[in-house]
Amino acid sequence: MLAVTAARGALSVLAEPPDWRVLDDYQGTLTEGEFRARVPLFSNDGALYQWLTVGARGVEVFADRGKTRKLWELRFANDNAANNAAANVAQAILPVFPQYTGKIACATLGSLKQSKPLKPLAGLKICLDPGHIGGAWAEMEERHFRIRNGPWVDEATLNLITCEWLERGLREAGAEVCWTKRTTLPVTARRPAEFTPQAIKMLWRSDAKKAARARPAELLKLVRWYEELIFYRVAEIQARAAVVEHLRPDLTLCLHYNALGWGRRGPRLYQNVNRIVIFTHGSYLARELEFDDLKFSLFKKLLENSRGAERRVADAIARQAARMWNYPPEQYGASALTATCRPAGKTPYVWSRNLLANRLYPGPVVFVEGPFMDDALTYRRLIAGDYDGWREIAGRQYRSIFREYAEVVARGVIEACGGE
Ligand SMILES: [Zn+2]
Repeated sequence: MLAVTAARGALSVLAEPPDWRVLDDYQGTLTEGEFRARVPLFSNDGALYQWLTVGARGVEVFADRGKTRKLWELRFANDNAANNAAANVAQAILPVFPQYTGKIACATLGSLKQSKPLKPLAGLKICLDPGHIGGAWAEMEERHFRIRNGPWVDEATLNLITCEWLERGLREAGAEVCWTKRTTLPVTARRPAEFTPQAIKMLWRSDAKKAARARPAELLKLVRWYEELIFYRVAEIQARAAVVEHLRPDLTLCLHYNALGWGRRGPRLYQNVNRIVIFTHGSYLARELEFDDLKFSLFKKLLENSRGAERRVADAIARQAARMWNYPPEQYGASALTATCRPAGKTPYVWSRNLLANRLYPGPVVFVEGPFMDDALTYRRLIAGDYDGWREIAGRQYRSIFREYAEVVARGVIEACGGE
């Protein structure tokens, strides 16, 4: 977690103190039982309750575990009032698929399935969020590599090409498509050099011993590294969140290519390492909930209730990916990521994870990780570029990997919306 502690309450890096009053529209929209039923998705171990007092009338949220500084209070509703209020909120505020929210869901979904419309995504606005900045910033982002003297592989560019094809697929199915960005320029106007104080704090928090031992030139290098991290991982995502907030889509798709990663000896290729993994929002860690802005985001997401739409779309994309590629699901059980994500779908490919993008973007967000760039066969398909028809690669005929990936995602969204 990228974070700093401020004197008057903890905020994650670059976060502004949240305005809890914007959640007042949700007063009386859910019962205590409904509230408690939603908590485990966001706080798997129930750590959230350390900052809450839950009573019959409502739940109070505190900044501290001692419960001396109250941030906000949500009033519960009785069952009937909750149904009415939830329906009103769904219509008035929520930028989610209304047909998948609560009781409105079933009726509309049923009629969609019966009519089997030619344009199953008509009326939906879908935002594409191609991962990373790329271009001049690719090396800084560390999502950029080459094997020996081969061509450079820049993940941001791969994501952009795939999203161009995805846009076509979604538009053909009737969706309105918008983008957080469609160039290799940053969305944020801020730059790394602005973040020196935050970078110094973060360096000392993360690695005080190394910082204390470092020579001046090395220390400057470390601070620069954190400045850049804050720029591309926090400021850029905050700026994109503002774009999504403005566009108010029904669904946002964050699109990435995966990688196993490389060590000190540089990038290398692996055999058959592709896995399918798709993230929905959730799984906050107790240490993340120390921060007021993360508590706020948790409540905003819990009340917005995008969970059903996210899971439905994620599972459908996963099924399409499994059908197309037959890769196994990612297994986080044995890795350090165990605590940061939990299984969250009907398929074994969907995990809930608290990522900055799916936390800050309003409405349902499905975060799709594509094939592994450092898988030997995938790498050969990627450097073959985008092309029409079929080409022989490693003795077999393949379509453009970009179009194939876009088709997987488009088909998944269409399936989730009742189309075929
Ligand atoms: Zn990525």
